[in-house]
Amino acid sequence: MELDHCRDSQIVVAIDGPGGAGKSTVAAEVARRIGGLYFDTGVVYRALALVALENGVALDDEAELARLARELRIRVTPPSEQDGRLYDVWLDGRDVTWAIRTPEIDRAASQVAAHREVRSALLGLQREIGRSGRVVMAGRDIGTVVMPDAPVKVWLDASLEERARRRQRDLAARGVVVSLEDVKAELAERDRRDAERAVAPMRPAEDAVVIDTDGRSIEDVVRLVIKVIEERCACAQHG
Ligand code: C5P
Repeated sequence: MELDHCRDSQIVVAIDGPGGAGKSTVAAEVARRIGGLYFDTGVVYRALALVALENGVALDDEAELARLARELRIRVTPPSEQDGRLYDVWLDGRDVTWAIRTPEIDRAASQVAAHREVRSALLGLQREIGRSGRVVMAGRDIGTVVMPDAPVKVWLDASLEERARRRQRDLAARGVVVSLEDVKAELAERDRRDAERAVAPMRPAEDAVVIDTDGRSIEDVVRLVIKVIEERCACAQHG
C-alpha cells in the first residue's frame, strides 16, 4: 500500500482523544523515540483563548475571534525550564506556557474552538507543521480533518474518573487545588462541547486504533503506539 504521509523519512502520527486521556505525555515520548517533532495542537486554541480573554473579545464573537486567529503569532520551542513543561509556548515574545493551562483557559479554548471560521483560520498552520517531516500531532480532529491521510491514527481514551484524577494531579503539581468533582464536571462539559460541535467534532477516525489507557502505564501505551507505527510505516526507525 502506498501511503502519502509515510514515505522516506516522513511519518505522520495522529493522536486524538478527550482531555486527560494522556495524549500529551504519550505523544511527546513517541516523538522522542521516532526522532520526530511533537506538536500539541490544543496549544493553538489555548493561545487564541488567552488573547481573546486579555483583549476582552467575547467568546461567541466568531468574526473577531477569526481575525485574532489569523493574526496569532505563536511559537513553540524546546523547554527552557525544568518545571514539568514539555515545551515553551511564546506569544509575541512572552512565555505563556503556564498561562494557557488554567481551568479558565480549558473552558475558553473549547468555546473558541467551536467556531467554523476560527478552525479554518488555524488549519493551514497545523497542516504546514504536519507536512514538515516526522511529526506526532495530538488533538481532537487530527485523524479526521487536519491530517486525514496520516498513516498512523490513534484514539486515546480513558474513563472520566481516571482522566479527572490525572488532571487534578497535574493541577496540584502546579499549586492549583480543585476538587475531583469540579474537575470531573469541567471535563464532562468540555467533552460534550468538543464532541457535539457542528464543525470537526471530536471523534475517532474510522481507521484509528483505539487504546483505552485506564490501568495502563505510560510506557505500555507508548509501546502500543510504536507497534502501530511499525505495522503501518515500513520506514519507521526508533531507538
Ligand atoms: O488538548 P487540549 O486540552 O489542550 O485542547 C484544548 C481545547 O482545544 C479542546 O478542549 C478543544 O476544544 C480544542 N482543540 C480542538 N482541536 C484540536 C485540539 C484542541 O478543537 N485539534
